[in-house]
Amino acid sequence: CGTSSLLPMTPKKPQQWLQVVGHAGSFHVGDYGTLLKRFCEGEQQCYLGLMEDVLKPFVPAYHGVVQRDEQNYNMMDNLLTHFNRPAIMDCKMGSRTYLEGELLVARERPQPRKDMYEKMVAVDPEAPTVQERAQQAVLKTRYMQWRETLSSTTSLGFRIEGFKKSNEECHTNFKRTKSREQVVEALDNFVDANKHIVWGYLRRLKKLRQILEASDFFRTHEVVGSSLLFLHDWTGRTGVWMIDFGKTEALPAHLTLDHRTPWVDGNREDGYLWGLDNLIDILTNMLPL
Ligand code: ATP
Ligand code: MG
Ligand code: MG
Repeated sequence: CGTSSLLPMTPKKPQQWLQVVGHAGSFHVGDYGTLLKRFCEGEQQCYLGLMEDVLKPFVPAYHGVVQRDEQNYNMMDNLLTHFNRPAIMDCKMGSRTYLEGELLVARERPQPRKDMYEKMVAVDPEAPTVQERAQQAVLKTRYMQWRETLSSTTSLGFRIEGFKKSNEECHTNFKRTKSREQVVEALDNFVDANKHIVWGYLRRLKKLRQILEASDFFRTHEVVGSSLLFLHDWTGRTGVWMIDFGKTEALPAHLTLDHRTPWVDGNREDGYLWGLDNLIDILTNMLPL
């Protein structure tokens, strides 16, 4: 790892980078247009696999592990490098954002949780069942699954995590953006109603879908909590890349996914392609006939 020969030969200049969502403090801007993300072994394995896969052009190039202040980082391309003060949007893909394994762990100790009950009623006083109300507590598994139904994750197979337009603050209040109409409104705001930009994104997403359907990596991984990062700028340039493989897991050897079959506990389907189909359909409908 840390093979410097893989570094892109762009000149060293002050790099622009900003983070739309995700854990603050996990990132550093690296040299030569790179970005350092706090090391996670699962994510490293994914990037190594992806560099050998047909999906390579759709993920940031991976450059190995580097150390800074005794902390390891995965080094990858900063996708903002070739844009000019871009608008940035993070869309979390899939019909669930927890792994089957996380559900399993939560199930092992089925303790009623008062804190989660309180979070639930704070968002929706009607959400708890009669029994949950009596206990003033909910199980963690129940809470995890309920939370996904608030946004468009369960209903459309993706959700907007946040976006930042060129001269604005980050918008991250999309936790209850659920209906098609609400999603369209948010997307239209993100692109400033610019059809040219929508065209650019659609072209790229359709190409991505085609490659995903042919990818060995994709077929053999449960892809959960991963995002599509959308970038465009005033020059009209657009781009979409897959990022965040911290919760992407290799499947057992006998198993493959089509990423469209609805999830039932045990089949490990993640709804990624179903969500991408919906996203493409929604963007298509934003264009004039
Ligand atoms: P999460 O809470 O979703 O698990 P995380 O800590 O795993 O977050 P990421 O989702 O990988 O972090 O990235 C967070 C944000 O950082 C993204 O929304 C994006 O704005 C920015 N980002 C991540 N990777 C890149 C990249 N390669 N180039 C440019 N920006 C990036
Ligand atoms: Mg993320
Ligand atoms: Mg993550």
